[in-house]
Amino acid sequence: MLVMKFGGTSVGDATRFASVSRIIQDARGTDKPVVVVVSAMSGVTNSLIRAARAAAEGDETTYRRIGEELLTSHWDICEALIAHEGERRDTCWFIEDQLREVERFCRSLTVLRELTVRGQDAVSSIGEKLSARILAAHLRTQGTRARAVDATALIVTDDNFGAANPLMKETRRRIRETLLPLLEQGVVPILTGYIGATAEGVTTTLGRGGSDYTAAIVGACLDAEEVWIWTDVDGILTADPNIVSEARPLRELSYVEAAELAYFGADVLHPKTIKPLEERGIPLRIVNSFNPTDPGTLIIKKPQRTPRSVQAIISTRGLSLIGVAGNGDAWTPEVAARALSRLAREGVDVLMFTQSFSERQLNLLVRQGDMDHGLKALRREFQGELERGTIARLDVQYPVATISVVGGPGEDGLSIVPKTFAALGKHQTKVISIAQASSEYNVSFVVTEDQVDSVVCLIHDELGLGNSSAF
Ligand code: ADP
Ligand code: ASP
Ligand code: MG
Repeated sequence: MLVMKFGGTSVGDATRFASVSRIIQDARGTDKPVVVVVSAMSGVTNSLIRAARAAAEGDETTYRRIGEELLTSHWDICEALIAHEGERRDTCWFIEDQLREVERFCRSLTVLRELTVRGQDAVSSIGEKLSARILAAHLRTQGTRARAVDATALIVTDDNFGAANPLMKETRRRIRETLLPLLEQGVVPILTGYIGATAEGVTTTLGRGGSDYTAAIVGACLDAEEVWIWTDVDGILTADPNIVSEARPLRELSYVEAAELAYFGADVLHPKTIKPLEERGIPLRIVNSFNPTDPGTLIIKKPQRTPRSVQAIISTRGLSLIGVAGNGDAWTPEVAARALSRLAREGVDVLMFTQSFSERQLNLLVRQGDMDHGLKALRREFQGELERGTIARLDVQYPVATISVVGGPGEDGLSIVPKTFAALGKHQTKVISIAQASSEYNVSFVVTEDQVDSVVCLIHDELGLGNSSAF
């Protein structure tokens, strides 16, 4: 049995949905049962979160406009994709119903003027429900038996809203009890990624980009033969191929290497994806839904080459840096602790943070979509300190990007860290913030977004990643 996950970029529009359904039909042609996990269409989760936050600020116009835009864009896709009238009507009703629910929730937020992470999870879970319904209906109109399955009934989690952890025993029981009979009947389950629910039935999310993790949880619970993550590039490459045209695909990686790459790259693979698969020795493939014949990257226990010879650059754009600048001697580590816990309570992911005691400065890296919300939350948190002047100011810098270089020593035996810094120095790159693990196996830093292309190309070149043969 195969578990296949399709990311937001793979279901970005009607044409993409159609390609996805061809991939699923081809996989079924091999007689292997297939379980599908799908993300929300790209941009939809961000829009839902924006709507809820606007509502909590009392901004009725924005949440209503977003609701209408989401309704139109999803309906347009149904129109283009679902030929059968009854199927189309039912799917459109479902979409309208879900989005009206979001609107009702937002209306109550305008009165409450407070959005909890629990509330944010409830709203941001809707995107996956819509895409799963659309894909299932489209597959049925194509003659494939398919059923949308809401993961809130199957993935049981703790109540750590915004980054919930699955309770594997109960989750395994429910997944097997629900999905195995469907597979026996020849039905393709189309499961919502990213979402789950507590034992009491309260909706949770597994964290941004969490549909990869859903696929791994489902694969582990079903003892799948393989898990395939379909995205918009040919697997994990030595650098983002949209930036470096000569980037080479990493054909095989060990679980350990992939976990390291995932941990330092916010995007390409959710960091929690590897563990459930590694525990059961289930191979993971990262493949390209735009180029389905490419073999992509295979992640297994023991690749056939020297361990730790992999080197790659993972870059992530669309980020913002929030700075908290202290004043005088009043700076204590407690400032960082309070900032981090306040942002966690507000549903803002901090992707990296650095602290300079000598300059009394804390830098917190967040997604650009979280910037305004995060800044307001910190203003409230430190209102007293800002008034007394013990915190001089809060500021933001955007758009910024992270570049993470991961890997063991090159053929010359030299570590990537000094080579990376030498390259940056040689080209006078302005680095805003740096985080380095003690292992010399990775280094991550922040640059302004306009520098990201040239810096990634530069490091790729200096590390000699374009020259060596692919593995
Ligand atoms: P999905 O919507 O399928 O979940 P993501 O946007 O989360 O896809 O992740 C895929 C993106 O990761 C690619 O489009 C690419 O821009 C980016 N990326 C950054 N660095 C790399 C790299 N070294 N190899 C592959 N992709 C990378
Ligand atoms: N839709 C969710 C997000 O945007 C989950 C995912 O795409 O994996 O974070
Ligand atoms: Mg992703």
